[in-house]
Amino acid sequence: MKIPLSQPSITQLEIDSVTLAITEKWISGTGPDVREFEQLLTERIGRHALACSNGTVALEATLRMLGVGYRDQVIVPALSFAAPAAAVINVGAIPVFVDIDPVSWTIDPEQTIRARSAKVKAAIAVDLLGHPADYENLKPLELFNIFLIEDAAEAHGAKYQGRYTGLFGVAATFSFHANKGITAGEGGAILTHHEKLYDKLKLYLNHGMTPEKPYYHEMAGTNGRLGNLQAALACAQMERWDELISKRNEVAYWYDQLLPEEIGRRPVAPWAQPSTWLYTVTHSERDQLVTFLREHEIDSRAIWPMLPNLPLYATGERYPVANRVSKEAFWLPTSAEMTYEDVELVVKTIKEGLTKI
Ligand SMILES: *Cc1c(COP(=O)(O)O)cnc(C)c1O
Repeated sequence: MKIPLSQPSITQLEIDSVTLAITEKWISGTGPDVREFEQLLTERIGRHALACSNGTVALEATLRMLGVGYRDQVIVPALSFAAPAAAVINVGAIPVFVDIDPVSWTIDPEQTIRARSAKVKAAIAVDLLGHPADYENLKPLELFNIFLIEDAAEAHGAKYQGRYTGLFGVAATFSFHANKGITAGEGGAILTHHEKLYDKLKLYLNHGMTPEKPYYHEMAGTNGRLGNLQAALACAQMERWDELISKRNEVAYWYDQLLPEEIGRRPVAPWAQPSTWLYTVTHSERDQLVTFLREHEIDSRAIWPMLPNLPLYATGERYPVANRVSKEAFWLPTSAEMTYEDVELVVKTIKEGLTKI
């Protein structure tokens, strides 16, 4: 592909950081860069941060340490990358799908509150495609003792009513996968104010033991640690946070300016200050357009299928907004290092495609 969907931005800063770590033999999950990365995240977002191996493990561990398990139910949005729903299944619980809201494409708060029951123990709100969920209207969940978890994997640097994503719910999770706004290659983090939850998560992700008492396992934990080499990469990216986030937003701004009106834009709710993950647009002839772009070496991709449309997650219910968005939305190449000329080329090719369909 001439223009890839997503490319990480690796500079000398990242190379030096990883080189130093490997030269000093700081390679395991107990290395100093892991603690440094957690510190940088805490300073940036304003909440205790715990690094872990990836965003999916972050969700699974959080559910587990909140006591969500066998046959409990967890509310998740019908349209998202599958990790939240899979995490629910993997702790033995059952996902309850709720449609997204047409104003924000994030989980519909009214329908979420309506989906509550004695069996529902938690809800995962996804800051979908860089856009925060409607946290004010999800607040009533607390009254029903339902834990709210924020999945901010796609929304580094986005804000809800002026506050960073990662600050909502009892805990928030991030992914630092290679295609996310800030990357560790593979990596994740959990942010929480809840000290007990933080301590439990720390224990769980480190084999259920503390460094003070080696091999004294307080619980059957797991190894969900982030490696020091990943953390060294992530520390360098954290230093470049403002630059990386604003460059992606600039690419989105260029697309917004240059794309013709027939291409639908992602809606933005009044409470949101989104950040760009993958720039997302809509068109009724989405599949033909994506094929045309791909034939012209532009790595565009259709968004995920709505989860209940997969046999694995089929419920027999209807989710009209999620269904429509999953059939019309697609991604255009988005990376911090894309130039105005790259965006112009993508737009030119889309305009050509539009005349052919
Ligand atoms: C990427 C992503 C995850 C999973 O993150 P990994 O680090 O790849 O495990 C979870 N939730 C959402 C919404 C994501 O986009």
